[in-house]
Amino acid sequence: MNVKISAPAKINLYLDILWKRKDGFHNIQSIMQTVSLSDTVSIRTESEGGIRITCSNPIIPQDERNIAWKAAKEYISAFDVDCKGLSIYIEKNIPVCAGLAGGSTDAAAVLLGLNSIYEKASVIELIDCAAKLGSDVPFCLVKGTKITQQKGEDMTSVPPMPDCTILICSSGESVSTAWAYGELDRIHNDFSDRREMRSNIRGMIDGLKGGSLNEVTSNMYNIFEEAVFPLCPKAKETKEKLLALGADNAMMSGSGSAVFGIFTDKEAALKARSALENSERKVFLCRPQ
Ligand code: ATP
Repeated sequence: MNVKISAPAKINLYLDILWKRKDGFHNIQSIMQTVSLSDTVSIRTESEGGIRITCSNPIIPQDERNIAWKAAKEYISAFDVDCKGLSIYIEKNIPVCAGLAGGSTDAAAVLLGLNSIYEKASVIELIDCAAKLGSDVPFCLVKGTKITQQKGEDMTSVPPMPDCTILICSSGESVSTAWAYGELDRIHNDFSDRREMRSNIRGMIDGLKGGSLNEVTSNMYNIFEEAVFPLCPKAKETKEKLLALGADNAMMSGSGSAVFGIFTDKEAALKARSALENSERKVFLCRPQ
């Protein structure tokens, strides 16, 4: 049997750290948005051979280190599936290590694909399975526009982001999420002080509820910019260029280093894409999904 699943990227419209727990885990508050930039995951059942992974991007591990492999393994063992072999092929379009949940969305696509073949899990059970694989995987499973807190499985729906054109830019500066958290701990004294008012999620939620793109873009926030921009000057420069080229607002996604710009005006986005694209910087035109 064959299935082909689209695996869309996410951007963070809002991302802040509330506090650091005693066990070292950071409690975050985020608004995540699915976008139309996608990988494609193809799954074929086989009569033997275990789980095999191939990917169009050779820098991604094509063995048990691939999160899509882990997702298949998790599904098979959690739901006691009688499966002798699987071939999984990932057509990779999403930039890697860029804060766009490229790995997490492939894992979610594998869970959805396997569940469409074997029909073993309810949505709740799939979300539980996703949470074991990584904090962004539950969101990648349900998609849309969600407020997420803590470890990612705590998700609240908010009205969808108003339609717009989004340019996602990647200059290939890759960032380790663990390093970025460490850098923020250093800057914010381990988040041990009372939280100062860095940002306010309320404005963004009101903007989404009222369908106002202007209120959404004017309340964008990502705490990771302050840690990552000093290390990734091309990302910072891309943000400045997006703003100069007419984006309503621009910001880094997740722990970076991809930067996105939001445009009300599609013509301006098309012109900005031509101005920004070069041998070092890839630009993807997409929409909220
Ligand atoms: P997030 O936004 O969830 O923090 P990211 O976009 O920053 O994630 P990924 O692109 O998911 O980062 O890649 C992180 C690491 O995971 C890379 O080192 C990569 O080699 C590894 N990896 C394992 N499987 C995959 C996969 N299917 N796709 C992309 N990366 C993968």
